[in-house]
Amino acid sequence: MTSIFDYVLFHFQRLYHLPSPLELGYGPDSPGRVQIRATTSTFFERQQPKPVQTVWKDWQGAQIPLFFDEATDAPWFTQNGQGQVEVQYDLIASAFYLLSGWQEFYGQERDQFGRFPYRASQQARHRFITKPLVNYYLQILREAVELAYGQEVQPRLWQGKPFATCLTHDVDYCQSAWKVAGIPALKKGNLSLFLQLALQKAKGKDAWFNLPQVAQELQRLPAEATFFFLPESAPFEGHPNADYEVTSPPLQQQIKELTAAGHEIGLHGSHGTGSNRRQLQTELGKLPTPVKGNRFHYLRFDPQKSPALLEELGLAYDSSLGFPEHFGFRNSYCHPFRLFHFKERRMTSVWELPLNLMDITLHHPNYLQLTPAEVMPVLTPMLEEIMRFHGVFTLLWHNENFSPYGLEGGLQMFRDITAFVQSKGTAFLSMHAAVAGTEKN
Ligand SMILES: [Zn+2]
Repeated sequence: MTSIFDYVLFHFQRLYHLPSPLELGYGPDSPGRVQIRATTSTFFERQQPKPVQTVWKDWQGAQIPLFFDEATDAPWFTQNGQGQVEVQYDLIASAFYLLSGWQEFYGQERDQFGRFPYRASQQARHRFITKPLVNYYLQILREAVELAYGQEVQPRLWQGKPFATCLTHDVDYCQSAWKVAGIPALKKGNLSLFLQLALQKAKGKDAWFNLPQVAQELQRLPAEATFFFLPESAPFEGHPNADYEVTSPPLQQQIKELTAAGHEIGLHGSHGTGSNRRQLQTELGKLPTPVKGNRFHYLRFDPQKSPALLEELGLAYDSSLGFPEHFGFRNSYCHPFRLFHFKERRMTSVWELPLNLMDITLHHPNYLQLTPAEVMPVLTPMLEEIMRFHGVFTLLWHNENFSPYGLEGGLQMFRDITAFVQSKGTAFLSMHAAVAGTEKN
């Protein structure tokens, strides 16, 4: 059984080069050189999704909510006559609450795809979706450690670079631009576009059969990326899965070429697999190479079932935890973290690489409606948070949005975002490399 303290401490140790041994005490029964006050709340013994109160406290100009403390004027931490540093607020409880995804497991709200909706989240209610609060809590703890030990504590970096970027591409469509983009064009009276796409398709090369173009964009950076392939082509309850067969020769050839160029292949679990172990296992078996990670199609992560199921199948990581409705930090953390198994009250072996931004979130009738010119100014504050905490930025850009027949201005937006992080000195890493970098810390 993992205590909430062990879970948070595990992640704290992955972020910083901490003194060893680290004498960190939590609650009255375990004294340490740094002593963290523990809440008297019985919240974690019950099954309520939301804490009853929220207090706000200033940290270097930022307003930080705390969920298990009373409002007081006490400073964040104080040092006593023996040099011991006392943290006056329960940073551990607030960090655990957000990082573990407690509100999703115990909350009843789900959308039509069984997903926990953004509007039901604390992040929406208190407007902190673009603030990685768990990183703030751990930063405060780091400063308490620095004071107690009289030494600076350095953050861990990414192959010497200040932050990492994981570029990822879910491959849903690669042979139906003529239909998915062409037929709506025809209905709007754009016959020439329809004919152009249909002609391309007839020549055996659909406009979305464009993985070499995606690879070329990556080569320009250069970046090693992760491509998630969807091994199910049959629709599920009327919702589309892949428009291709992953076992067909043209797809096998694409996968071979991407692998040869240094890119990683992952599983894109189809509709319903977030709660269906057997189907997810079948899909894993259809991929031509063994894979380490998964992202669910439509981000259909089931908070009740997915963590255990991913662990049972031996997957090293998942990258489905982002809100489709809004970019930012779904678990309020900008680093990889280990999923929590609520029924067994323990940390699983599965890493989550939280998804910060999906292309269609930026412009979609159900999500945001940003113009291409608005995109970078809107995203910059979130990216600055990731840089500030030396975290990982995970981006999902579908292959169809590299073509002129997907998201309007999609290719230019991808170039703008990647040029920005590159200008800030990012390390472009595949997902398994980002996990490996976190794991060894
Ligand atoms: Zn998908």
